[in-house]
Amino acid sequence: TTFADLNLCAPVLRAIADAGYTSPTPIQAQAIPYVLRGGDLLAGAQTGTGKTAGFTLPILHRLSETPLKQTAAGKPRCLILSPTRELAAQIGESVTTYGKYLPLKSMVVFGGVGINPQISRLKKPLDIMVATPGRLLDLTNQKALDLSGIEILVLDEADRMLDMGFIHDIKKVLALLPKQRQNLLFSATFSDEIKQLADNLLNNPDLVEV
Ligand code: AMP
Repeated sequence: TTFADLNLCAPVLRAIADAGYTSPTPIQAQAIPYVLRGGDLLAGAQTGTGKTAGFTLPILHRLSETPLKQTAAGKPRCLILSPTRELAAQIGESVTTYGKYLPLKSMVVFGGVGINPQISRLKKPLDIMVATPGRLLDLTNQKALDLSGIEILVLDEADRMLDMGFIHDIKKVLALLPKQRQNLLFSATFSDEIKQLADNLLNNPDLVEV
């Protein structure tokens, strides 16, 4: 399989070529067609497998396929939740790198830094929000962020999020999202707790495991 075989749009293919990637990794080859189709996905993948591009590339494609006339301030279309700041920052860099030829705006938020610059940034249009759960809820509580326009939700490293005690925050976030949306859950391990979360969250998901 090549990236072109996966039917990704030209701006995304161009960014992949710039990154020097010659062929998709196994998780990418399996996950990208499912994500492009718009259904829910349950993916078992460790760090280092290329999972970040596995969800980021098709998300960029999908969002650019159905551009909104005007993206509203503080109202993203895609939410990517991460357990840690480091991972959130990495995902944010991937979104920027792979999306560099698309007119999509992204933002990364996490706690431990001032919230006011984040609130200011949210006064401008935003397509993709990458966040840790606690700070995300702070921003919604302050009405700086509106999650009612989310079309695609990603829970990355969901097992680590549960290990870190984020289940209640995740449930609060889920309650703020519109019912009609695409859900992608990535996890390295599948405990009973993860399976339960997946059962509650995912609607007839496709399964990918590497
Ligand atoms: P991840 O598992 O998402 O953390 O990605 C691990 C590393 O693999 C990152 O440094 C990516 O830049 C790199 N990578 C992702 N996809 C590919 C690919 N198809 N070919 C070569 N490198 C890749």
